[in-house]
Amino acid sequence: MTTKDGCAHVSRQQPLTFGFFPVTWPLWWQAGYDDHAGPDPPRSHSLGDLDGIPIAVKDNFSTSGIETTCASNMLKGYVPPYNATVVQKLLDQGALLMGKTNLDEFAMGSGSTDGIFGPVKNPWSYSKQYRGKKQQKTHGEDEDSNWLITGGSSGGSAAAVSAFTCFAALGSDTGGSTRNPAAHCGVVGLKPSYGLVSRHGLIPLVNSMDVPGILTRCVDDAAIVLGVLAGHDPKDSTTVQDPVKPFMLPSLTDVSKLCVGIPKEYLTPELSSEVQSLWSKAADLFESEGAKVIEVSLPHTSYSIVCYHVLCTSEVASNMARFDGLEYGHRCDVDVSTEAMYAATRREGFNDVVRGRILSGNFFLLKENYENYFVKAQKVRRLIANDFVNVFKSGVDVLLTPTTLSEAVPYLEFIKEDNRTRSAQDDIFTQAVNMAGLPAVSIPMALSSQGLPVGLQFIGRAFCDQQLLTVAK
Ligand code: GLN
Repeated sequence: MTTKDGCAHVSRQQPLTFGFFPVTWPLWWQAGYDDHAGPDPPRSHSLGDLDGIPIAVKDNFSTSGIETTCASNMLKGYVPPYNATVVQKLLDQGALLMGKTNLDEFAMGSGSTDGIFGPVKNPWSYSKQYRGKKQQKTHGEDEDSNWLITGGSSGGSAAAVSAFTCFAALGSDTGGSTRNPAAHCGVVGLKPSYGLVSRHGLIPLVNSMDVPGILTRCVDDAAIVLGVLAGHDPKDSTTVQDPVKPFMLPSLTDVSKLCVGIPKEYLTPELSSEVQSLWSKAADLFESEGAKVIEVSLPHTSYSIVCYHVLCTSEVASNMARFDGLEYGHRCDVDVSTEAMYAATRREGFNDVVRGRILSGNFFLLKENYENYFVKAQKVRRLIANDFVNVFKSGVDVLLTPTTLSEAVPYLEFIKEDNRTRSAQDDIFTQAVNMAGLPAVSIPMALSSQGLPVGLQFIGRAFCDQQLLTVAK
């Protein structure tokens, strides 16, 4: 079935269709992944809700028998013996793994420019809309110069969905890495509530904030994939105990009883005027449909980037300690002493960004700094989380914010700033949600005057992912 919007629109009641793909699947594809085994005999039953649906997986999720690198020399050549729980759940429902996708090394970044495989190009760099506008300005300058970044760190997954190579892709979201590239690539990027989806097999960045993310072309597809992934996992003690039921979103939603909060602190001077006006246009749309739209305050917002930085790097320092050339990961040839071997291994294995974060994190965790930095940041994190609790207690159902400050920027402009500066700017609207464990989704709002996608973010109450997606749709 070809749908107008190119979405899969699979449902639990209807048999599955292949959406816009007009082709018959090659036999090896229908047979699964083991090309030595030959095609399976034709099946008369569906494997599950995702039978035959192409998906892609960010290369920081473990995939059994398939190299999993985190775009790092440290893990180059590493082939996990097991699947991450989320990967297994997708395969169990019949999904077809198209490939592993590129990212910033160990998911540290907001551009997908900082991994060993090089940067990811945003498919919108080649869109008619953007090219048309650019050519008017540049008078036919080299066509491939100044292509745009995808955002990150799940840029490969966002590009894969945006370029119509798959219906859904897994990203990870620690500080915005699913929502940021979703906004820049014009797709839906869902960060579920912390604890709703298993992290087992997701190579950790920040255990207390990491969540598997879902990238799709429409909100309905995100809901279907969430239905497949959500639920308790005995291998991840932070997952919910209560059973989670898959859900379908209604086709029409009455928003007249809805209260939408607009956090005033998110109106920052760095926000581009175009994103700002689309943000207020979306608020007006809700109002004109009868929703209550009110200004709210999240008073600790200005501390959140710094707080995220302290907590993120501290957990990074602790997590990355396992990659020492003995227990896990790459090992260098230096054998003059154990210390020299550790140092050379980590120098060869990690890029500057990862090493920089390990250094910062170890500084914050030093005995003399621990109280002043790590413990203090934990307290600030509680204040930030409480800001959200208070707003939701006051009757607000969802918050509406921008996802990014502007549309995607050209690569050459992006790399003028270093990873840390970039992340401090680009995570501004996204990381607080991770510190509070809330669900949030970025949806494409419109094309900018340059012909590039602009995303807006909805933030919901903890574990009200269904309500969040209903409003987003
Ligand atoms: N930009 C954030 C960082 O570098 C996002 C990380 C993430 O969500 N994986 O920390």
